[in-house]
Amino acid sequence: MFFDNASTTIVDNSIMQTIYTINNNSYYNPGALYRGGRDVSKIISDVRNSIKKSLNFDGDVIFTGSATEANNMAIFGCANRRYKKVLLSEGEHPSVYNSMMELKLRGFDVEFVKLTKNGCVDEGDFIEKMTPDVGLVSIMYVSNETGAINNISALVGIAKKINKNVVFHCDGVQAVGKVLVDISSLGVDLFTLSAHKIHGLKGVGALLVRKGCKVKPLIFGGGQEGGLRSGTENVFGIVSLGMAVDNACKSLTENYDHVKMLKDKFVEKISSSNVDYQIFSPNDASAYIVSVGFKNCRAETLLNMLSDRGIYVGNGSACSAKKSGNRVLQAMGCSKEYVEGNLRFSFSKFNTIDEVVSLADNVVSVVNEYMYNASM
Ligand code: PLP
Repeated sequence: MFFDNASTTIVDNSIMQTIYTINNNSYYNPGALYRGGRDVSKIISDVRNSIKKSLNFDGDVIFTGSATEANNMAIFGCANRRYKKVLLSEGEHPSVYNSMMELKLRGFDVEFVKLTKNGCVDEGDFIEKMTPDVGLVSIMYVSNETGAINNISALVGIAKKINKNVVFHCDGVQAVGKVLVDISSLGVDLFTLSAHKIHGLKGVGALLVRKGCKVKPLIFGGGQEGGLRSGTENVFGIVSLGMAVDNACKSLTENYDHVKMLKDKFVEKISSSNVDYQIFSPNDASAYIVSVGFKNCRAETLLNMLSDRGIYVGNGSACSAKKSGNRVLQAMGCSKEYVEGNLRFSFSKFNTIDEVVSLADNVVSVVNEYMYNASM
């Protein structure tokens, strides 16, 4: 049973079938001038248009090799020496956090905006730190750790009022296809998405760039993607991203209601058990993610005990899961005795209520086994 859907998801069958068909009929290089090449190039531009339509966006869609790459492109491609101060929240994914750390080494003044105890960006602290010398802001839409949802349009409004030239980047990886995303009304300059969190292929993402926003390329070569990301396009990945966004946006409410029902059942079962736990996700978080801390347990041990029972769960971002401690939960002020036993349960449209009941029973059973062993 798979409950680590915030780290990746199974690819939709319809996507695999479409890719198979494209491979048989149109495997050409999209840069080739003959008709087959032009046809593939048209497939890519159709995907661009479909993503724009699904997310109500009117600028450029730059396909990348991952959301990590898109986040790097946003940060290194827009950091501007005229404004040496950059802001990010304490909740950002490692792909933003570590890019900003690199900017710091390159002489930028990097400041962190605090999180509230609910895991959202603290707007008061944002207002304090958003001074006129800030040139770049990066704040995620939905937290990959807790599912907490930031009020991006409000933060953009505040930032642009203080410096109309500020570039506002939003990592929307855990939002697209899961909660309603209307990029025009968010008002962001740059927005990141990923295919494999919503049943597309791994190794493909996109950076959406508002018209008029200048981004410098990180990769040079043949000039694909408007010169911003050279290299022969990952046609299968791009098609999968387009289909994944389209499918998820069309079934957004239906999928959300299903996942919410699963999450509520899980929480209800855990709360009626004898285990000592804290839920770190706020009540109004995305229902796709619930982060729970089990008192005086080691998360890795619980995770392995569940894994031995054929149940896969997460303990934070897969990119940083091997590092000790949890930077984001610590920033929220969660107490250490619960943080160390933190597991992240993340759902998908394919999980069933029976699976969730079994998940909860097994979680309670391994926590009790852990406590028993620890007391011996
Ligand atoms: N941003 C967030 C919020 C994520 O959850 C992830 C994946 O865990 C990423 C970025 C990185 O995505 P990718 O695996 O496509 O590089």
